[in-house]
Amino acid sequence: MTSNNLPLASGARFWALSAAMAVATLTVPLSVSAQDSGTETFQRDPKQAIDETYTEHIKKYTTAPALNSPLTDYLPASKSVPSPAKVLGDVAGASDVLPYAEEVYQYFRLLAAASPRVKVFTIGHTEEGREMIAVAVGDESLLTHAKENGARLAQLADPRSLELDDAKAAALISRSFPVYYITGAIHSPETGAPTALMELAYRLAVDDAPYVQYIRTHLITLITPVVEVDGRDRMVDLYKWHKAHPGQNWPDLVYWGHYVGHDNNRDAMAMTLELTRNVLNTMLDWHGQVLHDLHESVPFLYDNTVGDGPYNSWIDPLLTHEWSMLASDNMARMQGFGMPGAFTHGNFDTWSPGYLMFLAAFHNGISRLYETFGNGGADTEKRWLSPEEYSRTWYRPNPPYPTVVWSQRDNNNYEQTALLSALSYFAHNSKLFLNNFYLKSKRSVEKPANGGPAAYVLAQDDRYANRQMELLKVLALQHVEIHRLTQTAKVALPPPPRKDGEEPKPGTPPPPVSQTFPAGSFVIRMDQPFSRIADALLDRQFWSPQDPQTEPFDDTGWCFGDLFNAQVSRVTDNGILAAPMSLVPDLGQIPAPEVGPGPFYVVNNSAQVSLASLVYALQGAANLSVAEENFESDGHKFVEGSLIISGVDASKLRSLLRQFHLAAVSIASQPSAKVHPAAAPRIAFMHTWLSTQTEGWWRMAFDKLQVPFAYLSTQAVAKEPDLRSRYDVLIFAPAGHVSGQQIVDGLPMWGNALPWQTSSLTPNLGKLDSTDDLRPGLGEAGVAHLKDFVRQGGLLITAEDTAEFAIEEGMAPGVFVSPRKDLKVVGSVLNSALVDNKHPVAYGYDGAVALYSADGLAFTVSNLTVNYHILTAKDYKRPTGRGGPDDEDVPQGRPFEKAPPLPAPKPWQAVPLNEEQERNNPFLIPAEYRPQVILRYADMKDLLLSGMLENGDSVAEHPAVVVAHFGNGSVLLFANNPVYRGETVGSYALVFNSIINFGHLK
Ligand SMILES: [Zn+2]
Repeated sequence: MTSNNLPLASGARFWALSAAMAVATLTVPLSVSAQDSGTETFQRDPKQAIDETYTEHIKKYTTAPALNSPLTDYLPASKSVPSPAKVLGDVAGASDVLPYAEEVYQYFRLLAAASPRVKVFTIGHTEEGREMIAVAVGDESLLTHAKENGARLAQLADPRSLELDDAKAAALISRSFPVYYITGAIHSPETGAPTALMELAYRLAVDDAPYVQYIRTHLITLITPVVEVDGRDRMVDLYKWHKAHPGQNWPDLVYWGHYVGHDNNRDAMAMTLELTRNVLNTMLDWHGQVLHDLHESVPFLYDNTVGDGPYNSWIDPLLTHEWSMLASDNMARMQGFGMPGAFTHGNFDTWSPGYLMFLAAFHNGISRLYETFGNGGADTEKRWLSPEEYSRTWYRPNPPYPTVVWSQRDNNNYEQTALLSALSYFAHNSKLFLNNFYLKSKRSVEKPANGGPAAYVLAQDDRYANRQMELLKVLALQHVEIHRLTQTAKVALPPPPRKDGEEPKPGTPPPPVSQTFPAGSFVIRMDQPFSRIADALLDRQFWSPQDPQTEPFDDTGWCFGDLFNAQVSRVTDNGILAAPMSLVPDLGQIPAPEVGPGPFYVVNNSAQVSLASLVYALQGAANLSVAEENFESDGHKFVEGSLIISGVDASKLRSLLRQFHLAAVSIASQPSAKVHPAAAPRIAFMHTWLSTQTEGWWRMAFDKLQVPFAYLSTQAVAKEPDLRSRYDVLIFAPAGHVSGQQIVDGLPMWGNALPWQTSSLTPNLGKLDSTDDLRPGLGEAGVAHLKDFVRQGGLLITAEDTAEFAIEEGMAPGVFVSPRKDLKVVGSVLNSALVDNKHPVAYGYDGAVALYSADGLAFTVSNLTVNYHILTAKDYKRPTGRGGPDDEDVPQGRPFEKAPPLPAPKPWQAVPLNEEQERNNPFLIPAEYRPQVILRYADMKDLLLSGMLENGDSVAEHPAVVVAHFGNGSVLLFANNPVYRGETVGSYALVFNSIINFGHLK
């Protein structure tokens, strides 16, 4: 190990080993070893004047001297460049001042106009049309040559362009500078980052402190000050309302972005949100090395990147050491500045890749995240910490104070100080990190030759084509290259995994040794720069119940191939890479299947996500019916649930089929199969005012699929006695771990009203829905209206907590929650099996469906409305008597009377009742009103597809999807969440089948 030529910061020896390994395979350019931040003093330039007023105000708003550092306790003066005070009217982080995104942008644009070291770019827009920006800060010479530098970084990012030649890479590295991308305010109630980043940009552009000069001449700092712009503007509205109503409670931020709140930081896998796409595109346009996201939920500064195990299994091992290097220097500096409460490690596990920062981890960069302390606005408050926050522990030797008067300025001091020292460290080690960037990119390309696999293949198969396209669209948004086989390809299969001690049964055929994929199959090659993200999404996950980490931070499983029901094969035979294939440059250019002359068309039901889209688009413009049985026509075979279309304009049909990635077969005559009309029912979503996030994922899916719906709150339902005359289907998507009592009662009614309305003070509130008071819930009247709606023939769709609510309120007779006992499921993917494959909800499914389960909810069903225990063969234990344990006792002195057998139902079945149990039983559900189980969870041995599962008895084989009947209507209950984070595309059709077959669910 030759550590003498390594670019190490002094005092950070413990990571010398990993750093040495990082550069071991490359001749380090001379300029690399010249870098050394060991003598960094972070002293300001004594010759540069300071902005006296600004500096005085920094001091005024900082609540204790220890909560600031020599880096940020002054502001350098500039005659030409405006400070943040120009827009804010006071310093960044001043108490009571919280700018809108537009004001933040206004400042950055003023800065760019005044300084050649700053440039502002529009990087896209939000769902509601608000602008997102990125700001580049660096020395003028760097910004002037950013394009040429970008071209060099692009080659390092794709080492295939360098023939994987380390010497060529080294030559590029010696002439290149890195890009460090900082993002703020993705979480709207975490409000401090925008002003901290305004001042940070000013300092980087203006300050002549030697260390700042070094930063700006050695790297480009890229800043997106507000990631969740829609949510920021709503949060500022709310803060203004709060300031205008002193002494009153203020409303919770019930909507952040248009669809989701906190989960906007769980979108880095499925890429459904504009903000995720805009940030990734910006990072990749610049070929950035770091994505550093700012949050505010831990005192005083938690560099959570190092976190705790388990670490994600698909990242390059080098990255885990980069996290440590950066955090180690960073937190040591914070201790050096005397700032209490700065630490790394902590309880954040680095398993799930859903976080925004992980866009970098899986695109060969470095993901970083700070949690600082925030007050949810700009008030200065006395804060009371909990013992787990202020206690001293091994990774937090200098913990935060138990109580503290905390200001937004304190927050801004921490954020800026930590960022400035991190930028300094990165600038001083820029060549090392650029080399690591190259190495990680190169190893991504070399994946098939090392850890593997060789590729993932999505076999060409009409039954999966629609959902495969949805999955391919995600991969394309991740900038993953997609190929398509031009000829048949045959690959060798590895021997199947064998469970311990399990011998193949005699007479069973040997497992196949090869697999053949037809031409047209899609291939995701692992010898490409972004192979890691594809591998991480398409592989399966296993979280051991014995893992020392017992509290997963987020979901433990996410296998997209299963969740999209897309038939994805993990291929380990490198021969696949030599198969004839061509790059698919644009998924939109894939030719759509031909549409024949008609006059009848059939779309075979294969549980496509978009059959309902087609039905709504053609409503009134065609005759649409659904086959209730399978049939053959003109030599084609069709399954139950297939959509039969006639009386349609062929060109209109063609363009819709193309838009929705559907294929139709043209047939000459009306099929003879029994049919019912396809429904396009009037849909309303019902949401609570407690939380709108989990239902937001459902709204997004419906919007993207162009299935129209009205949007009502529980309060509106409470006021609407005749729901049935206005709607056919009510969707009560998961409210997000709330109880039935909370749904009914809402928030406690003491204190003041909490309005969520558009007003001159709050122009961004009340747009999606509004109320003059968030507190009231559904109420008893609302429950009665819901019951009337179902009784009168409506369909109520529920999942997770809202399914439990429907059960508790008696709207799902015969359905109960399976007691969870010691079960442990944390965001896992579980397997299921069809119970009733002829039921319209199951149309198009032909076997197992992967289900996302947040916490292992499962049902039981009964022929009674009460959950009485009825003795079954499984429960019966024979008494003491003659014979062995399985023999029957025989009373003596009389002829033997054999007892009728006890019922032996499966866990997904109701216990059949005998005459005695049914006689005069008021709780007995008439046969036609008994719940129908559509899907059950799989047997224990097949239950876990991905993630964590422990003690799964209460789930295995239990009902997962049930249609209950109440009056003339039905309640569809999901124990799983079928529409979640854009990840559960394979289970969408269970919902949409129920909609287009409305009226035919019994
Ligand atoms: Zn956060």
